[in-house]
Amino acid sequence: MPETSSSLLEGSLDAELQELAAAGLRRQRRILDSPCGRIATVDGRELLNFASNDYLGLAGDAGLARALADGAVTWGAGSGASHLVAGHLQPHADLEAALAEFTGFPAALTFSTGYLANLAVTPTLAGRGDAVFADKLNHASLIDAMQLAKANGADVHRYPHNDLPALERLLAASNARRKVIVTDAVFSMDGDLAPLPGLFALAERFDAWLVIDDAHGFGVLGAKGRGSLAHFNLPATPRILLMGTLGKAAGVGGAFVAGSTRAIDYLLNKGRSYIFTTATPPAIACALLASLQRIENGNALRQQLNANIARLRDGARDLPWTLPASMTAIQPLIVGDNQAALDLAQALWARGLWVPAIRPPTVPRGTARLRISLSAAHTADDIDRLLAALKELA
Ligand SMILES: *Cc1c(COP(=O)(O)O)cnc(C)c1O
Repeated sequence: MPETSSSLLEGSLDAELQELAAAGLRRQRRILDSPCGRIATVDGRELLNFASNDYLGLAGDAGLARALADGAVTWGAGSGASHLVAGHLQPHADLEAALAEFTGFPAALTFSTGYLANLAVTPTLAGRGDAVFADKLNHASLIDAMQLAKANGADVHRYPHNDLPALERLLAASNARRKVIVTDAVFSMDGDLAPLPGLFALAERFDAWLVIDDAHGFGVLGAKGRGSLAHFNLPATPRILLMGTLGKAAGVGGAFVAGSTRAIDYLLNKGRSYIFTTATPPAIACALLASLQRIENGNALRQQLNANIARLRDGARDLPWTLPASMTAIQPLIVGDNQAALDLAQALWARGLWVPAIRPPTVPRGTARLRISLSAAHTADDIDRLLAALKELA
């Protein structure tokens, strides 16, 4: 009896997995046999890696690995508890202070991942009687956060991508007690920027919070890599909550939210994904303190990254696929059809180039693409190799 019911249960999963496969949407993982870096070893082959978000090439950096190892020797392997119980160690506190200073906000709170950081912000700020206004192309973690806010009783509105007039109409029509505007700063699948000055002006006019996810701007954009706010010369004011991830340009893992002292205290007291989870190992904070120094002193890395971006965009001009306007490390080559995108990624793979195909539901239907992620670790030759292969396959 138990066997029959479990095979029925599994059978229904299998049917859905087969549907995914038939639609060209079934996922599988590749195992890397090398640290994250410009070269990835997979199945005994070396591939040029255009798939990681390691924009400054810090993930495999020996100095950061040393800071992590030293941190573990000094502070142990684990934190032992959640932050509010007994898991908040000195390196965690030092990292929060350093992140606050770096971003220019009075306070910051660290999280285990960006996903958890986003889950802490929107549903904590917005519940019954409140309203969330979210860009249609926001990252999945912001969408899930919005759904949680909705479950808490908030009204949610999604405005067309970067459409300030549409957002303005929604804000003007809302009589919510608390209004929360939520946006990616750099959109993760297109690499384009949100119109942050316009969003900030609307937030001021309608007295709304502005929640900014700077996963792909932190470390890369603005003076010293301070991020998208610095890029636009926007102030670190109390109505802004700035989220940044620490597993991309920072090369380690985790995330933070920076804001006013009161807003951060509020999140610390009410953010469920902050409260009900074990603090990350303190050695991670030690590695991140070292990473922050590398970011602050990383103008040469950012110059190399920007040179790589310019070289790719220049060389990709006569390819038959669209390369939308993006000044960031994320360079999407829009192919359209799911299978065509997969075929192109496969052909590049056969030539020793790892560029992931991104398909729905991660991106809208009909916009399957190659998502080229550039890094300061790439050389001009690496970019030329990718361009030559794409020209050959065009
Ligand atoms: C990667 C990403 C996240 C999630 O961050 P993790 O630390 O990987 O959980 C959130 N928002 C955006 C825009 C991202 O690209």
